[in-house]
Amino acid sequence: MLSLSLSLSETSPAEWKYISEGGATVVFSYQGPNHPVLTGKVLRLRKTPRAREGNGTPGDPDPHPITDEFTVEFQQKVISPRVYGNTWLQAFSAYHEPSRPLERRTISMIDISRRTGVLALDLIGGVSCAVEVKPKWGFLPNPIHLSQESRPIKTRNCRTCMYARLKQTEGKNAAMHYCPLDLFSGSRKRLEYALKGLWDSWVQSNGSINNLRVFSHGKIVRPNDGLTFQAWSRESFSLPPDAALTSIKSRFIDSLLPEFLHTSLLNHISTLQRSLDSLDCEGFAKLVELTRIESAGLGDNRDVNPLDADSMQPTMEDWVSFVDIFLSPEHQKNSSFKPSNLRYHTLAYLLSATFKDCSLIITLRPRSAHEESSSIKVIDLDFKSVNKIPGWFNLDEKIVKVYANIHAGMRKECIEGNSESEYDSCPTSTRAG
Ligand SMILES: [Zn+2]
Repeated sequence: MLSLSLSLSETSPAEWKYISEGGATVVFSYQGPNHPVLTGKVLRLRKTPRAREGNGTPGDPDPHPITDEFTVEFQQKVISPRVYGNTWLQAFSAYHEPSRPLERRTISMIDISRRTGVLALDLIGGVSCAVEVKPKWGFLPNPIHLSQESRPIKTRNCRTCMYARLKQTEGKNAAMHYCPLDLFSGSRKRLEYALKGLWDSWVQSNGSINNLRVFSHGKIVRPNDGLTFQAWSRESFSLPPDAALTSIKSRFIDSLLPEFLHTSLLNHISTLQRSLDSLDCEGFAKLVELTRIESAGLGDNRDVNPLDADSMQPTMEDWVSFVDIFLSPEHQKNSSFKPSNLRYHTLAYLLSATFKDCSLIITLRPRSAHEESSSIKVIDLDFKSVNKIPGWFNLDEKIVKVYANIHAGMRKECIEGNSESEYDSCPTSTRAG
C-alpha cells in the first residue's frame, strides 16, 4: 500500500466533479489544475444514512464500520492519501449535494465524520465513452441444500432475474431484459442478447438501473439527456446528430461485443462466485443454525449468535489465511458441511458477495483514433461486512417467495453454460421475460 502525505483540503470543492454513487460510497473526479498526484484520479467518500424524520442527528453509526484503510488494504491497488479537515469535507459535501440524485439525497449523505477517503485511478474521465457493466450473479446454485420449494425455482431461474422481478413488484427500476447467464455464457449470440437487454433496460429506465452506466468524459450520460446524449453518440460512434436510437443501439452493441468475447475475466468472476458460494444462501443459513444448536448443546449460551459480528468480522490476517486455504488442495477438507467449518464458509460467502457485486469498466475509443484497443477493468471489489449476512438470508427468502407466486408460464428460464439451443427454439418475447 502506498501512503502519500497529501492534504486534499488544499484543493477547492469546485475542482472536483460528482460522478456517481453506490450504496456505500460517492465518487468524484479531480478536474482541477494539473497536479502530480490528483490528475487522473477519482475520490471515493463514504456515506452515512440521513437523520430520521424529526430527529436532528445523523442515523445510527454502524457499530462495525469498515475503515477506508481496510478497504485500501483489501483491494491493494489504490492509493490512500492523508486526508482533509472536517471543515473542508463539510464545505465539499455542501457544494456537491445538489449534483446528487434526489432519491439518494433523501436517504444518505457524505459521512463528514470520516477523516479519510480513497483515491483511485480515474478509468472513465478523459474518454468519450466509458461503459460500466455490473454483471451480478453468473451461476445457478448448487442444489444440495435447497428446500423442496426453492429447488425447482432456483435451479432454473438465476438470482439476478428473480431479484429484478422482486424490484419490479416493489415499483423499483430493474433490468428486466437482462440475464447475467447470457453475459457469462461465452456464446456470441447470447452475449449480444445480454447487451441488447442491458441497453433496453437502460433506455426504458432512463439510465437509472445499476447494471449499465454510460459515461462521456467522466460525466454520466442518460438516454433522455438530449444534447449530451447526441454529443456522446456522435463522438463515440461517428453517427449524425439525428441518428435513430436503433442505429446507436447497434453501434453500441457492436463496439462492446468483441470486448466481452475476447476476455477471460467473466469466466474467472463466475468461477469465483460459484466456488466461494458452494452451499447457496440456504445451505449457509442451515450451517449457521446447526452451529447455534451445537453450541447450545455444549452448554454455551442458548442465544449465542454464531455470526456475531464482534467475533466473526474477519481481520486482514483471516483473509490472508483464508485465501491460502481456498487456493490449496486442502480446501475440500476445510469446506465440508460441519459447524467447525463455519468460519471458512462465512469468509467464502463474503468474498463471493464481493465478486457478485463488482463492476466492469470498458473504455471505447473513437473509431478514427490510432490508439490501442480498449480493455476491461474490474472495479468495486469492496469488502462486505458480516453484518450484512442476516439481511441476505431474509432477502433470499423474499425473492424466492415472490418468484414462486408468478405463474409458471410467465417465468423466464435462465440457461447456464454456453448452450444456444433454447435460444433458437424460444421466441424472443419469452426469453426477454
Ligand atoms: Zn437469469
